[in-house]
Amino acid sequence: MERLLQKVQYLKGVGPQRSRLLAKMGIFNIFDLLWHFPRTYMDRSSVQQPGQLVIGEQANIIGTVKTIRSSRSRKGMSVLSAMISSPGGSIQAVWFNQPFLIDTIKSGQRIWLHGKIKNVLPPEIHVSEYEILGQEDTVPSIVPIYTTTEGISQRVWRLLMDQALKSYLSDYPEILNSGQREHYGVCGIREALANIHFPLDRNAYVQARKRLAFEELLLFQMRLLELSAEDTHAGLIHREKNDLVQRVLAALPYKLTAAQQRVIAEIFADMESPRIMNRLLQGDVGAGKTVVAALAMAKAVASGYQAALMAPTEILAIQHGQVINDILSGSGVKTALLTGSSTAAQRSDILYQTQHGEIDVLIGTHALIQEGVAFEKLGLAVIDEQHRFGVRQRAALTAKGDHPDTLIMTATPIPRTLALTAYGNLEISIIDQLPPGRKPVKTKYLPYKARVQAYRYVKQEIMAGRQAYIVCPLVEESETQDLQAAVNLYDELRNGIFTGYELGLLHGQMRPVEKEEIMSQFKNGKIKILVTTTVIEVGVDVANANVMLIEHAERFGLSQLHQLRGRVGRSSVQSYCILLAEPHTDESKQRLRAMEISNDGFYLAQQDLSIRGPGDFWGVRQHGLDQLKIANLTKDLVLAEKARQCSRELNPLDWQNYVNARFPVSEGTAMN
Ligand code: ADP
Ligand code: MG
Repeated sequence: MERLLQKVQYLKGVGPQRSRLLAKMGIFNIFDLLWHFPRTYMDRSSVQQPGQLVIGEQANIIGTVKTIRSSRSRKGMSVLSAMISSPGGSIQAVWFNQPFLIDTIKSGQRIWLHGKIKNVLPPEIHVSEYEILGQEDTVPSIVPIYTTTEGISQRVWRLLMDQALKSYLSDYPEILNSGQREHYGVCGIREALANIHFPLDRNAYVQARKRLAFEELLLFQMRLLELSAEDTHAGLIHREKNDLVQRVLAALPYKLTAAQQRVIAEIFADMESPRIMNRLLQGDVGAGKTVVAALAMAKAVASGYQAALMAPTEILAIQHGQVINDILSGSGVKTALLTGSSTAAQRSDILYQTQHGEIDVLIGTHALIQEGVAFEKLGLAVIDEQHRFGVRQRAALTAKGDHPDTLIMTATPIPRTLALTAYGNLEISIIDQLPPGRKPVKTKYLPYKARVQAYRYVKQEIMAGRQAYIVCPLVEESETQDLQAAVNLYDELRNGIFTGYELGLLHGQMRPVEKEEIMSQFKNGKIKILVTTTVIEVGVDVANANVMLIEHAERFGLSQLHQLRGRVGRSSVQSYCILLAEPHTDESKQRLRAMEISNDGFYLAQQDLSIRGPGDFWGVRQHGLDQLKIANLTKDLVLAEKARQCSRELNPLDWQNYVNARFPVSEGTAMN
């Protein structure tokens, strides 16, 4: 194992510059490199001639670069076009938004191209993958394509992988003996690694993927086992020393629902027992999880402990800070908010008071798990919207206390087996009832030609004293582009149909104080219409807002649409969700339809499953399991169950270095 942990500089061709680039991608040592699996593969055994192309299809072309030039499109996009000559004729190759390629691609070079055919007379290809070939290169038929960064070509990746496999594979640990491999139906690990990078055929890839997914799940289970070995440690006992909880309850402006009362009883029983609590609190958006958390925190405080609540975004942390302070401070509980944007003075003040037990409840973002944050007596750690956090961050928070109880809150309906596999041993509490008087949100899909009608609708509700959200689409998986879309829409609306109305703009790249300012203006009703990106997605709670208009709703997944819609329908007033969309696929039509007919997160989760298939099951990517590189907890649920069994046959202590290499726990502040 030690050799595998050698720095990547040990490889030929990796100097300081490349190792910096690799480090940026999270690749520090040979082990990390080997676990950087291809994003996809190209089958180059077939190459097409410019004469045989079909518009709209993907094609592979090999030829020689004749000329190359760069220009800009009308929309300001950079366009690079090259004339490629090949035995069967010439073809124009086009790259978008990669101006730097002008320094890489030169005339006279032999080049392999893959992309979509846009035209046939004359032939034109929009390139998605390319590679410059040496004059003598034979092109292997199945070629891995890696996620990469500017400065490392696919060719370099292949050379690095080839080298790493040749020189280090023999050091790679094999966890399973041949009997176990046979029992679980998996191939050897070394064979798997070689084949995942350079599969000779589809079957080799399938076998390799299976073993590596198994391996990953196995290591993941061993990590959980280690963490839960901690759980058998005696936990602390919460025993109330005063009537704080009763006072907090009495001061609530509403009566708890039966479901809330039930889960509170479950949580309290755990807290009173000497076992460490490890409980997942599930409840659809708007079910009222926050007050449950606040009561659990009150119980911790009444028992002489401190409590902490960690939320995934700053907006959410700020909001929780306010809501929880409202619930608790009247009864004498001292709360504080710590986020990345607390000033140095605030921070040191808060840290001091936390360490000396003057602050009872600390609420914040990842800032809570940074070094320097210490509690006098942390008794309860609450983690909101767990799917945004990884195992590491959870462990980092509980490590701030001496085996505190943990409560994890989520709106995602995770099936029980999946939850167990993902989080280890935990208990589950479900709030399966919304507060009374809520009217289901009326949801309507409108095509873009009815856009004006949609905005008029928003106006009507504003006139009636309500407020609205207008959420911008995810343009690309790029924050800057999302941002641009929101800014443009904001300007367009402010100077157009909503001239004279109070609009606000909220997006992820604003400074935290600005965000806070906008949110508070929206909360106190000064801003009527909040134009926003999906920063608003989780948890935000403004009861007077009753219209949620989602632009380009076809680009959102069901889970996201449901989360977004959950921002309205938070009072007894009728709320509306308008989905402005241009659905091009059956899938997106089905999604919009599902949103129109149901408000139930569990039902929608099932729909999502049947629309998209298990591969993309509802929010798997969000489960905090984005640490998994190759296994997919829903697609591989059977494999996951086997890995869970298998992990019990092994001694995690024997494989500690290996487990650590894949799932480090120490660097608690790293975010995913
Ligand atoms: P979520 O479960 O999505 O986190 P919240 O905790 O934000 O939901 O609660 C949603 C809204 O419902 C909040 O405005 C909260 O004050 C309110 N609420 C919670 N419980 C009740 C209740 N039992 N009766 C009435 N309103 C409630
Ligand atoms: Mg919430």
